[in-house]
Amino acid sequence: MIRFVRKRIGRKIALAGVAAGMGAAALGIVLSGEPLDSRSTWVLVAAVTAGVLATALSLRPVVLTPLDRLTGVMKQAEEGDFLKRVSVESDDELGDLASRFNVMLAKITDLLAERIDRERETEQIQRELDLKKELAEKTDTLEGRIRDLILLMDVTRAITSSLELEEVLAKITDMVGGALGFDEFAVLLYDSNTREYEIAAAYGFPEGMEVVGLKFRHDEGIISLMHERRDTVLIQDTSKEPRYLHFKGARKDDGSLLAIPLLYQDRIVGALSFNRPGKNSFDLQEIWLLQAVASQASLAIANARLHRETVELSLTDALTGIANRRDLERRLNMELPRAERFGAPLSIIMADIDHFKAYNDTHGHPLGDEILRTVAEILVESVRSIDTVARYGGEEFTIVLPHIEKEQALEVAEKLREAIGSHEFPYADTQPGGRITFSLGVATFPDDATTIQDILNAADVALYHAKSRGRNRVEGYYAKLADCEEESRGVATC
Ligand code: GH3
Ligand code: MG
Ligand code: MG
Repeated sequence: MIRFVRKRIGRKIALAGVAAGMGAAALGIVLSGEPLDSRSTWVLVAAVTAGVLATALSLRPVVLTPLDRLTGVMKQAEEGDFLKRVSVESDDELGDLASRFNVMLAKITDLLAERIDRERETEQIQRELDLKKELAEKTDTLEGRIRDLILLMDVTRAITSSLELEEVLAKITDMVGGALGFDEFAVLLYDSNTREYEIAAAYGFPEGMEVVGLKFRHDEGIISLMHERRDTVLIQDTSKEPRYLHFKGARKDDGSLLAIPLLYQDRIVGALSFNRPGKNSFDLQEIWLLQAVASQASLAIANARLHRETVELSLTDALTGIANRRDLERRLNMELPRAERFGAPLSIIMADIDHFKAYNDTHGHPLGDEILRTVAEILVESVRSIDTVARYGGEEFTIVLPHIEKEQALEVAEKLREAIGSHEFPYADTQPGGRITFSLGVATFPDDATTIQDILNAADVALYHAKSRGRNRVEGYYAKLADCEEESRGVATC
């Protein structure tokens, strides 16, 4: 019973009221002097009790309900809901309590809001810091990229500034070694006829390690991987790669190796090969840069090769493959000033096939062409490598002999005459004398003339003289010969 009353304030007040009413009733009974069983006494007790109960019940809306509401809101606050408020419906102590509680809740919500704001701010600051860091990293990368691009432009400009293959190769090694700072690498050129790669230029290899000229078949070593894939090959640790050939034994150390193909219009023209001592020592940024350099190098090498081919074609006689008249003039333009500078002699032989028209008329041009090709071969085989054999035109050949005096040149010419005269040409028996024969005229710088044209003319005069003296012979030019006078060797008559 006590516990039942203790739980609710309403019950306590009711109990207190009943107790007070009972007290008052007892006092009324005592003071009235009426016996306890009289009717009026019971009426009094009932009236007092009813009054007390009515009072207790009327307390409900005034005290109990507001208290319940307050408790409810407090419970919700306890569970974390600080946004609920107690409705304040009176301005008594309970109303005051409720509004103070509301104020307290408002402060709590303010505090919470502040805390959330602060957390948000901290988060925001953290995010900004992260972004700044990311930006700094990106700026670094970007700056690196821009630096690389500027370098790349310089490299491209340098590499593509020349059409001479040697110069292009020298520029590639200069720029990649110097400007880009790669320590050790080789430029390989691919020959599609032999299917071989040859190291054409090298940079930074240890002293005494001669790699230029080393050749690799397309199907051997690391190069074979690159060749097959037509793509960059990166070996992070050469000691684990059995296909690594250590530059055919020239290089003992291991490390990283990067091989980039040089591709031009889908054709392989060569490769760039880089070595570094440590494992995993090439990063992606470097590889990207070197691939860009490689594509420029491919273009420059392809252009230089094309240029060389064009020049060679323009200087080569299509039928015989020897120098043509243009190349003859080009070489004379180099050789004559050189001879002049060193005070050295230079002899010229003009040679012409005898009665060649007859051979063509009898056997046709194709066989005539065959004779021209064979004559050119015999001439090239019979002279030194520094001499020039050129087709001057038709069935006429010119031979340039640097450092050779007239007497020696006459001997060379005689040797050539014999070589042609003794060769078994097809169907030569139809020619006068039953053989293909050769007439030759010789002139020498500076004795006979000092300009290219004059020496050529002089040799031609000597040749004409050989023809007029019966063909299949050698004649030397002498100043007097040109004037159709008796000449000291006793062969010149006009
Ligand atoms: P000579 O002994 O006086 O030199 O008599 P030749 O018949 O050799 O001289 P000529 O100048 O009368 O004739 C030269 C001939 O060379 C004419 C031409 O049929 C021939 N010839 C010139 N160029 C070529 C060529 O490219 N191919 C062939 N098959 N014949 C050529
Ligand atoms: Mg002739
Ligand atoms: Mg001729």
